[in-house]
Amino acid sequence: MRATQVVIDLAALRHNLARARAAAPGSRILAAIKANGYGHGMLRVARALEQADGFGVACLAEAIQLREAGVNQPIVLLEGFFGADELEAIARHRFIPAIHNAAQLEQLEQAHLSQPLPVWLKVDSGMHRLGFPLAQAQEAWQRLDACSNVAEVVGCMTHLANADNLDDCFTADQIAAFHLHTSGLPGQRSIANSAALLGWPDSHAEWVRPGIMLYGVSPLLGGRGEQHDLRPVMTLRSELIAVKHLKRGDAVGYGGAFVCPEDMTVGVVAAGYGDGYPRHVANGVPVLVKGQRVPLVGRVSMDMLTVDLRGQPAAHPGDPVVLWGEGLPVEEIAEHAGTIPYELLCRVMPRVDAVENGA
Ligand SMILES: *Cc1c(COP(=O)(O)O)cnc(C)c1O
Repeated sequence: MRATQVVIDLAALRHNLARARAAAPGSRILAAIKANGYGHGMLRVARALEQADGFGVACLAEAIQLREAGVNQPIVLLEGFFGADELEAIARHRFIPAIHNAAQLEQLEQAHLSQPLPVWLKVDSGMHRLGFPLAQAQEAWQRLDACSNVAEVVGCMTHLANADNLDDCFTADQIAAFHLHTSGLPGQRSIANSAALLGWPDSHAEWVRPGIMLYGVSPLLGGRGEQHDLRPVMTLRSELIAVKHLKRGDAVGYGGAFVCPEDMTVGVVAAGYGDGYPRHVANGVPVLVKGQRVPLVGRVSMDMLTVDLRGQPAAHPGDPVVLWGEGLPVEEIAEHAGTIPYELLCRVMPRVDAVENGA
C-alpha cells in the first residue's frame, strides 16, 4: 500500500480550541470549518470540537452535511445564501445566514417561509469583500428587524483585512468604525478571525471566529503555531520508495533540474503534487526523513519527489518521511512555496487517506 497519508491529531485540535478559549475568555467560539475543515475532514473536526459554541461554514451543502451527521450547535452560513431557493432549507434546519447585501435582504423580505430564521447582519468595515457599507448598517438592521421572515437578528459581524500584521493600524480603524456605525443596535458583535483573536484583543466581542489557529497554524505573518502554544493537527507523511547512489554530474528528474555536484545519495519519496504537495517550492525546502531535515532537490512530480540524502547516508526504502506537520511547520513549507498554510492544508488531494490520532 502507498504510504502517503495525512495523520489528523484530534487531541491537538482540542488543545488548540482550549488555547483559543484561553486567549479570548469572555467570548463564545464560532469554529470555522469550511472547505472540508481546512482540509482536515469537516465532520471529523466538528465531532472533535464538540466544545465549540458554533460552527462557521461557506455554504448550505456544508451546513446540511453537519446537521445530518448529528451536529447540533448553531451553524452560521458565513456568506449567507446564494439564491432564494435555499431559504426554506435554511429556515427548516435553523441555520443562521449572514446577510451581507441588499439583494439578499430583498429576497429574504419577499420569501414565503414555513418559519422565520435567525440572521447575522454582515457589515463591511474596510475589507471591501462582503457586507453592507458602514453607512447602511443601521437601515439594514431596521429592515431585518421588521422582516416577518426573520426570527431574530443575532447581531452584527465584520471581517478584518490585515489582522495578521500586528504593525498595521488599519485593524484598529476597522474595529473602531464597526463599533461606531453599529452603536445603539442590540444584539451581539463578532469581528475576530484567528489573527485578531491572538493579536488584537480589542476585537474579541461576544463571538470570535477562529479557523486556522484551531488547526495549529500561526495566523500571524511570519509566525509559527508553536509560538502561541498551538499544536499541528495535520501531518502529511509518506516514505522513501527508492534510494539511488548517483555519480557527480547525474541529473535528477524532469528537466534534469538538479545535477549532482558530487557522487551522492538521492532518495525518492512517494508524494507529489498529485497529493497536494506544492510543485512550486523553492529548491532546498526541508523534508523530514527519519525525523531529520534533508533538502528537496529537483522538480516535484505528480506522485514523487526527490531529496538529497547526503546528510542521511544510511537511509533506505521504507524509511518514514514527513512533508509537513509534526516536527516540520506547514508555515515553513508555505513560505518556500510562495503561498499560505491555508492553501496547502485545503488542497490535500482526495486520494490521500486520513488516519486519526488522539481520538
Ligand atoms: C474563514 C473565516 C474565518 C476564519 O479565519 P481564520 O483566518 O482561518 O481564523 C473567520 N471569519 C470569516 C467570515 C471567515 O470566512
